[in-house]
Amino acid sequence: DRVAQAAAPITDGALADGTKVPLLANVGSAKDGPAAVELGAEGVGLFRTEFLFLDASEAPSVETQTAQYTALLEFFPGKKVVVRALDAGADKPLSFLNDAHEENPALGLRGLRALRASEQILHDQLTALKNAQDATEADLWVMAPMVADAEETAWFVEYGKKLGLNTVGVMAEVPSLAVVADQVLESADFVSIGTNDLTQYTLAADRMLGSVASYQDPWHPAVLRLVKSLGDAGAAAGKGVGICGEAAADPQLAVVLVGLGATTLSMTPAALADVRAELAGVTLEQAKAKAAAALAAHSADGAREAARTA
Ligand code: PEP
Ligand code: MG
Repeated sequence: DRVAQAAAPITDGALADGTKVPLLANVGSAKDGPAAVELGAEGVGLFRTEFLFLDASEAPSVETQTAQYTALLEFFPGKKVVVRALDAGADKPLSFLNDAHEENPALGLRGLRALRASEQILHDQLTALKNAQDATEADLWVMAPMVADAEETAWFVEYGKKLGLNTVGVMAEVPSLAVVADQVLESADFVSIGTNDLTQYTLAADRMLGSVASYQDPWHPAVLRLVKSLGDAGAAAGKGVGICGEAAADPQLAVVLVGLGATTLSMTPAALADVRAELAGVTLEQAKAKAAAALAAHSADGAREAARTA
């Protein structure tokens, strides 16, 4: 009956052959926690912490941040929660961290670059995250945005571990990072692919600019080939390669991403049910066949069609 149906537990993400694909939530504050849990998120794959401070005129204190991170982590005892260090700049400027006068902010001092230039802000945030790690039962993973190469990765991982963080990784959003994925995974515990920025930078098309919006398509084989490089490097290193950009919320693309080596998918909680259902209908072998077909296409539309018919 209706009541029993409503109460039926949501299954974890898995392919038809039983291969597990944990399905995680993208969140912007602790307020998003209940909906993520209710819709069956197996954890959080992206906490966009800069969303908390878009209106702040000065840097938040360690105490303020500890309370906000702890509040979110408390919804996920025993579960993975991936928190991103402040991704300030371009589409998400923070007045206390960015120069508003850059001509090309997407190519400017944003993400990890801005945090290295204002190291006290990074120190305070990672200290607050360590406090939240100690105060809760969640499995906290911390990652940096807008990382370009293995040197920046190693710097961030060492910085986080010195402050007592257990699991530290980086986002793959800049094509250079994907090109040297094997080197990145020498120090990073994991990589999470931000397909929104990875697409923007691979196709050299501003994601905020309507006139080039058609380039902002993560089905493009060039983007998929970078995802494959990252997936291969993760498999070789025995480390996780997640997806946390909007691409993970497209059920057909989610299948292809798993076929390319993605080990987890994180998305807006509203998309979880459709992605879960699509994954349940294909085996890993079928997902790999669809991925191979998409990789060989010559355009985003071609990849979409090739994956559909593979
Ligand atoms: C991305 O770039 O894909 C991503 C997940 O980060 P954001 O959309 O917040 O830039
Ligand atoms: Mg991004």
